[in-house]
Amino acid sequence: MDAAAFRQAGHELVDWIGRYLEEAERYPVLSRVKPGGIREALPPEAPAAGEPWSAIRDDVERLIVPGLTHWNHPGFFAYFAISASGPGVLAEFLSAAFNAQGMLWRTSPAVTELEEVALGWLRRLLGLPEAFEGVIYDTASISTLHALAAARQAAPEVRERGLAGRPDLAPLRVYCSEHAHSSVDKAVMTLGLGQSGLRRIDADERFRLRPDALAAAVDEDRRNGVMPLAVVATVGTTAVTSVDPVPAIADVCAREGLWLHVDAAYAGAAAIVPGRGETLAGCDRADSLVVNPHKWLFTPFDLSALYCRRMDRLEEAFALTPDYLQSREPGAVRNLMDTGVQLGRRFRALKLWMILRYFGADGIRRRLAEHMRLARRFADWVDASDRFERLAPAPFSVVCFRANPAAPAGDLDDLNARLLDGVNATGEVFLSHTRLDGRFALRLAVGHIRTEERHVRRAWALLQEQLDRLMQAEPRG
Ligand SMILES: *Cc1c(COP(=O)(O)O)cnc(C)c1O
Repeated sequence: MDAAAFRQAGHELVDWIGRYLEEAERYPVLSRVKPGGIREALPPEAPAAGEPWSAIRDDVERLIVPGLTHWNHPGFFAYFAISASGPGVLAEFLSAAFNAQGMLWRTSPAVTELEEVALGWLRRLLGLPEAFEGVIYDTASISTLHALAAARQAAPEVRERGLAGRPDLAPLRVYCSEHAHSSVDKAVMTLGLGQSGLRRIDADERFRLRPDALAAAVDEDRRNGVMPLAVVATVGTTAVTSVDPVPAIADVCAREGLWLHVDAAYAGAAAIVPGRGETLAGCDRADSLVVNPHKWLFTPFDLSALYCRRMDRLEEAFALTPDYLQSREPGAVRNLMDTGVQLGRRFRALKLWMILRYFGADGIRRRLAEHMRLARRFADWVDASDRFERLAPAPFSVVCFRANPAAPAGDLDDLNARLLDGVNATGEVFLSHTRLDGRFALRLAVGHIRTEERHVRRAWALLQEQLDRLMQAEPRG
């Protein structure tokens, strides 16, 4: 692709993207393709001869776009709504063009140093102490894996000898709440602790880890010859966005000498908002903390920030430099390859830096506060309705609720599952579900940068309409 062809295709593509982002509401949020539909529309082999760009581009619109669930749709309320903001998309474009690979400082000093700068800015916005150094990974799952790998260094000679076939080593254990994210299980499995190496602790009636139950579990494990290693506290659990009592958990960790990792993948961002700094209360005492700018900071997927006050432990776990990668730079430089499993690194910091500059701290604060206001409104409508009920507190921008009309036909779980399917089938909104205390719960998450009050209102109207339809369709029980 010569420069002229690149320019022409590029200009067209930017126009297309501009229109796509502006008119995302034209598309059904949830893709309507049948399983296998995309695969079957494409040939089984790559073409022998190159094809014109225009043919490829047309197939994107014709074949690929219908197979997308549109995360850019302002009616996307499922899981955690995320945003590819304009500056973030442009930064990705630029990052691909630079194709800089940041394994060593010298393989692109700007990759390493901009990462330090952008994560320093974010750390200050979050109100975390300077002792936390940051590093960017792709996802919170990988950030948590690395944090727990650093924690695992507390076991003797684990880097040199591993865990298998070691009668000298007690079984290692990590603790988290029953509501913690499954990435904690995966990290523990990957690190060789086995699923039994994770002990899930009961939560209270507001879905928060119970520190007394944690202390008792650690105590019991020690008596049984288990070596407690780390606790993962969650600020903003995935299902209900509950906040574990980090200060009390930090007390247990300090007393017991355990690594404290805080998973604030989604809700950490709320600490940027004036008056919401308490979101990360006690987190200054953590050993590590993960927050995902790709969740609630308008950064296109992917970018996860791990903050760690024991970066030496992380490097102890992973630094390993073959001869051909030895580099001697004057002064202290950081080589990102020493901070984790992967050698190569994308230039992710570019988009975070551009986004923080483009919106500014005030612009980000205003948008996050607005998302929380919209969720609050929705929660108020649910609370005021005699046909719906809330199933959990809504401290951030997520509301868990269900329909509970008088004299429902049949099972409430079934009614709510059908309600969710009906609402999602409209193509105007996409909500997801969870299970709370054994009950099927609908979940509305506000987080997209283009979501306005009218979209939240529309979701509420569609829920009413669909419930009416379901109640009329069946004789009352
Ligand atoms: C979304 C989420 C994760 C996983 O995030 P990835 O970046 O997709 O790995 C982990 N923990 C919590 C609390 C989350 O909400």
